[in-house]
Amino acid sequence: MRIVLVGPPGAGKGTQAQFIASHLSIPKISTGDIFRTNVNQGTELGREARAFMDRGDLVPDTVTIAMVRDRLSEGDAADGFLLDGFPRTLHQAKVLDEILDEMGDKLDVVLELVVDDDEVVRRLSGRRTCRQCGRVWHLDFDPPKVDGICDQCIGELFQRDDDREETIRHRLEVYAEQTAPLIDFYADQGNLVGLDATGPVEDVTERAIGALRRFGG
Ligand code: ADP
Ligand code: AMP
Repeated sequence: MRIVLVGPPGAGKGTQAQFIASHLSIPKISTGDIFRTNVNQGTELGREARAFMDRGDLVPDTVTIAMVRDRLSEGDAADGFLLDGFPRTLHQAKVLDEILDEMGDKLDVVLELVVDDDEVVRRLSGRRTCRQCGRVWHLDFDPPKVDGICDQCIGELFQRDDDREETIRHRLEVYAEQTAPLIDFYADQGNLVGLDATGPVEDVTERAIGALRRFGG
């Protein structure tokens, strides 16, 4: 299946992506993760992206699209993928359709994770991420057994620079202005499924997998 996860920052896209992708045996492609890896490794791409990310702005389309085009051409994405955090602008969405069209493919389903702004702020301000394996935790909602240490790989947990309250508010504005228009775009294409993303992580995963099953997943 070719799936896009859309929703505001903190909706739980990364959290759900790891479970859904492993359930369907498809790669999870997170543009945020790819950018962060490049920032950490000090690559040219990382240098280009860093200032935008720190401010909570979107990295320019040209840079982001080139990166995704490359990633989708890798062998593991040939039979399906789950995109987390891409597309985030109408232009990205239109170019994604073109890229898939060139490959003779199309998106099967766009899952929109629906949560309100207050919940997003609660989720993002308590988010902690593993430096080693990238697993996402939450101080209150999904805490690791040992403070500051990932249960999965005993890596160190850190708070993302863009998860400070001020940047979170700005990212929500950016979402409303630049990304929310995708909802109508995909609704018009007929492949949008809105999903209540509140409640325990496992319940959301169950709802997501149930919705995907209706699309053949
Ligand atoms: P996104 O990828 O959409 O930005 P994440 O998956 O990183 O969001 O989730 C943001 C934070 O919210 C993380 O700390 C995660 O542990 C927590 N979280 C995710 N899903 C839920 C949920 N259903 N209930 C409570 N907290 C959640
Ligand atoms: P995320 O991990 O999805 O919250 O993304 C973190 C940051 O990476 C965003 O705030 C943007 O600066 C950048 N980013 C991730 N995906 C995209 C995208 N599709 N388009 C532009 N910028 C992106």
